[in-house]
Amino acid sequence: MKKLLNVENLTLLAIVLGIVFGYFFKTPSLELKFIGELYLKLLKMLIIPLVVASIFVAITSLDSKEELKSIGIKAFLYYLSTTALAVSLGLVVVNIFNPGADLQIQPIETVEKIQPKELSLGDFILSFVPGNIFEALSSGAILPIIFFTILFSVASLFIQPPKRQTLYNFFDSVNDSMMVLAKWIITLTPIGVFFLIAYTVAKSGLEPILNLYGYVITVLVALFLHAFITLPAIAYFVGRFNPYSYFWKIKEAPLIAFSTASSSATLPVSIEVAQTKGGVSKKVAGFVLPLGATINMDGTALYESIAVMFIANISGVDLTLSQQITIFITATFASIGAAGIPGAGLIMMTMILDSVGLPTEYIALIITVDRFLDMFRTAINNWGDLLGAKIIDELIKRKERS
Ligand code: ASP
Repeated sequence: MKKLLNVENLTLLAIVLGIVFGYFFKTPSLELKFIGELYLKLLKMLIIPLVVASIFVAITSLDSKEELKSIGIKAFLYYLSTTALAVSLGLVVVNIFNPGADLQIQPIETVEKIQPKELSLGDFILSFVPGNIFEALSSGAILPIIFFTILFSVASLFIQPPKRQTLYNFFDSVNDSMMVLAKWIITLTPIGVFFLIAYTVAKSGLEPILNLYGYVITVLVALFLHAFITLPAIAYFVGRFNPYSYFWKIKEAPLIAFSTASSSATLPVSIEVAQTKGGVSKKVAGFVLPLGATINMDGTALYESIAVMFIANISGVDLTLSQQITIFITATFASIGAAGIPGAGLIMMTMILDSVGLPTEYIALIITVDRFLDMFRTAINNWGDLLGAKIIDELIKRKERS
């Protein structure tokens, strides 16, 4: 009995009960939203100390600069290739299903919800570098924080070893304490998830999904193929392990990603389960997961390519091959730039629409189903990170053995 009542099973149960509760009891679900938010806030509280400490410890605990290079290069190759595969798969599936080609467009009224952001390549590159690290820390700007932490920890490899040890001990202790805190918060998951899901269902119901079913199904099919065919194939052929049994061990993290729609909020759980249940070493988990939660978003990239093609379809625009290639490139970068928070992918979409000259106001149409799809794409984002950590860990262990 005790075995059945673990956090993962209770979380699954909470998702189902949350949907039912949210559907039938709208007012209490809306009013009790704060309980879900409380859980999210507790998780978010850990993100910055955890990202800084885990990246610092991961880099400074590497035995050599070669090892740093090898993990770093493998991670970037993995992030980029899987994201590119995700976007390609999205484009192929959307070209087959062609959703929205016959959809009647309703007059758009809610356009002001999304403010189209001017995002040039220059701004994008500049956004990686913090002008003031304390400002970045206090505003939670995660990309510049990661950029600084990587440089800081690499620089510490060049100072005298006793001094580096002091820094290492400090961040290692921060890291360990955050993980203890994460374990405590994780036990609250079923409660938090129940209220988050109930609120989402109470707020948008199931109707919007029924109207945009062609688009929703296209996104879900492509996400499913990427999660259960493409990524596992890479794990099987490159990492040489069984991806499905690994998934079963670490499923708690994608489930939490699904319920919170936030890769960043899931990070503490991902690091914990990757190490304790997935058998990934501390240094690989500490490097690949925090970075991945921020820049590796396969689900988001895939969803964005489909959403843009869908908007092209409903506005009657036939996109050329070169425009689709532009979508391919911008969707890849947009997913790197998207924050690991709910709805971030939708904001980045204005950048892709602009790049091929499509009207941004049709975003209003897909807002209705965005939260629903966000849950799925975030789960895939998270699954991609966890699989990447395991693949890289296996590659390194294999090399050490030989
Ligand atoms: N919610 C997603 C994440 O946190 C980002 C997005 O696609 O909106 O990974």
